[in-house]
Amino acid sequence: MELNLSQADSFSTGKRVCGAVREGVAAVIGPRAPASTGIVQSICETMEVPNLQIYPEVQQHPGCCVISLYPAQESVAQAIADVVRNFLHWSAFTVLYESDEGLLRLQEVLKAHGLEDRKIIVRQFVPGKDQRKLLKEINASNETRILLDCATDRVLDVLQQARDVKLISVYHSYFITSLDTHTLDLSEFEPGQTNFTLLQIVNPEDMNVELTVNYWTDKYYYYHRRSLGVTAETVRTETALMHDAVFLFARALHRCYFDVNQSFSVESLECDDRHKWIYGLPLANYMKISEMDGMTGKIRFDDSGRRTRFKLYVVQYFTGEFRKVGWWETGHGVNRTQSETEKEAEIQKSLQSKKLIVASRIGEPFLTEVEPRGELQGNERYAGYSVDLMGKIAEIVGFQLEFRLVESNKHADLVNNLIARTADLAICDLTITHEREKLIDFTMPFMNLGISILYGKPVKEDASLFAFLDPFSVDVWIYVATAYLGVSILLFVLARTSPGEWDNPHPCRSDPEELENTFNLMNCLWFSIGSLMGQGSDILPKAVSTRMVAGMWWFFTLIMIASYTANLAAFLTLNRLEGEISSAEDLAKQHKVKYGTMAGGSTAGFFKNSNDSTYKRMWTTMSQSVPSVFVNSNEDGVQRVQKANGKYAFFMESTSIEYQVERKCDLQQVGGTLDSKGYGIGLPVNSPYRTKVNGALLKLQENGVLQELKEKWWKAPANESCSAKDASELDEDSNKLGLANVGGVFVVLIAGTLTAFLFAVLELLWNCRKIAVQEKISPCEALTSEMKFALNCSNENKPVRRRKEEEEEEEEEEDAMPAGVTAGSFARIGFEKFRDKE
Ligand code: GLU
Repeated sequence: MELNLSQADSFSTGKRVCGAVREGVAAVIGPRAPASTGIVQSICETMEVPNLQIYPEVQQHPGCCVISLYPAQESVAQAIADVVRNFLHWSAFTVLYESDEGLLRLQEVLKAHGLEDRKIIVRQFVPGKDQRKLLKEINASNETRILLDCATDRVLDVLQQARDVKLISVYHSYFITSLDTHTLDLSEFEPGQTNFTLLQIVNPEDMNVELTVNYWTDKYYYYHRRSLGVTAETVRTETALMHDAVFLFARALHRCYFDVNQSFSVESLECDDRHKWIYGLPLANYMKISEMDGMTGKIRFDDSGRRTRFKLYVVQYFTGEFRKVGWWETGHGVNRTQSETEKEAEIQKSLQSKKLIVASRIGEPFLTEVEPRGELQGNERYAGYSVDLMGKIAEIVGFQLEFRLVESNKHADLVNNLIARTADLAICDLTITHEREKLIDFTMPFMNLGISILYGKPVKEDASLFAFLDPFSVDVWIYVATAYLGVSILLFVLARTSPGEWDNPHPCRSDPEELENTFNLMNCLWFSIGSLMGQGSDILPKAVSTRMVAGMWWFFTLIMIASYTANLAAFLTLNRLEGEISSAEDLAKQHKVKYGTMAGGSTAGFFKNSNDSTYKRMWTTMSQSVPSVFVNSNEDGVQRVQKANGKYAFFMESTSIEYQVERKCDLQQVGGTLDSKGYGIGLPVNSPYRTKVNGALLKLQENGVLQELKEKWWKAPANESCSAKDASELDEDSNKLGLANVGGVFVVLIAGTLTAFLFAVLELLWNCRKIAVQEKISPCEALTSEMKFALNCSNENKPVRRRKEEEEEEEEEEDAMPAGVTAGSFARIGFEKFRDKE
């Protein structure tokens, strides 16, 4: 006998059960209404009539004759907890439940959630009311995983309202605890969007279930001429359990009859006289110990008649059909039957019909607008590394995409788009950071980089004309000149005081009247300069003291010349391009060069959150700088460095620096990188596309496509490439000294020669004046005759010029003297001349 007492109160239920028992029953199956369970159970226990229950038990009353086929609540609660933790791997989620009974089912989930786990939100909704406000709040909390516990017939209503508040999308997942969810039509929730997970007790792939259902539907059709409307897939738990209960009881009767050879008969029993049915207890006990395969799997009971060691099947609805993906069994926990490949194949299938929205921002070389603007449509409007990369990924994974620019062109806006799930992917120079990882998901990095310094190149100094002076500092040159003068004067003084330096001017005369000293001041200066220039001189000291001075001077010049020569080559070939700033530490130490970053970017975040004392200090300096050192974009930063003339350095990511310095030859990267990170493609949290996109990226990396794309977009054309220009300049310049490098030496030579020429003119004029006085002729005549002689190159000997009186005297003497005396007069004149000179 089945009792359909869903509407009845306990009193009328009791009356009906007593009435039935009076007629004579062998077992009671039911009731359906939880409120009546107690009274039915109590009457059956009293009269020892087996009571087979097929609905969730409300209270636990272990008794002699109650047999519950519905899985025990605590076991279902454990199954739900296991699926959440070990199958879905949810660490944060929202629990949405309807009744306190539901909360009992969810107790294990709540207990399993540790203190250190991410927060879970638990919300109760009032059945039959508008749930949109509550659902909106859940949506605002950015929760994408919802554990829904409510009656089967309310599931669709809740889901429809959830759809209204945009809580149904590809990023949302639902776990519905009702064991009959598989009987619902979920097709209205756009297959391939939301993932619904559910549990069911009827094995959806069991052939016996199918056969049984077919058998009963055929029978039903035979008697009623219409379809039962049930298939193996849609058979309700209640139906299956009813079938199993009847079979269990029939089997028990059958076995008792044959095995124990016991014939049964029902008796009329009165509720009032507490009379017991004698066959009830043996039958109930037999059912408790027996095992049977039913539509709900293996049927086994514990001593108190509660169903134990049963299996629940984990089913998912994603691409338009319910698919068994795993199972749970008492004592075994949850197991996955769907392989990763099958899962991926499902996602792949759902992707094929999809157009994913790719959020991006304008920024070279990742994305630029193609000219002429406004005339092109769709993705044709954009070009850049991001477009190429996304194109390749879409090709591998097999989806269509649409690029959409974020309004503010800021990185933060891209992240916000992903959080709001208005975009499926976000690509640009989006750095993977810890902060962002809390809000969105990232693929593996497609490019590696670090923070570095963008700074202006120091202006190439023109080679100095007097670069030959560079090997020694001005001080050293002054000391050398002072030493030269000092040594020359010392030599002069010592030579005058040393007897050894005083010589006989006429070695032929053994008894000279006077001695002469070669080291007059001019000769001392000549001697010292000769040594300093490495040429030596024709006069040398003889006295010990002067030789000592000369020796020391030679030693000094030896070292100085060697040092000068060693340094000269390096100084003449060196391009003085090193600036004052060569690292972040250099920047931190000074106040002349301002430095900044892009506002709100990961670089600013690096300094802000750094624990390093230098970077912390730099962040304080940057944030206190007036006017602000922060810029809105990398492009602004680059322009500021270019305009600042060495007064501003910009912290930028090495990849962007690489791109800029390849094209802007007045810029350079200074120092290495301060950290190491990567750019990734952003996705909303729990995006189902992440694995697919990751796989495609890995493939592109292995094939060298990522490298090819980098080269394509980073390398400038040869005529614009600064690195190519630098290389060719280096080739031309290498080891060659230009006139600019050694021009000063020519200047010195020319200046020296001109000075010498000036002295020559002065000497000539002085000599002409002397001749004019001696010969009593005009200076002009003397000059003319001297010039004539000098210009007449055939004259190799110059006659000695004598004074007029001397000539007349000579003529007189010549007249008076024989011819042979002429030689003696020459000798005298020669001697006179020599004396004059002295
Ligand atoms: N790539 C950075 C980001 O994702 C922006 C540039 C920067 O901060 O240097 O925030």
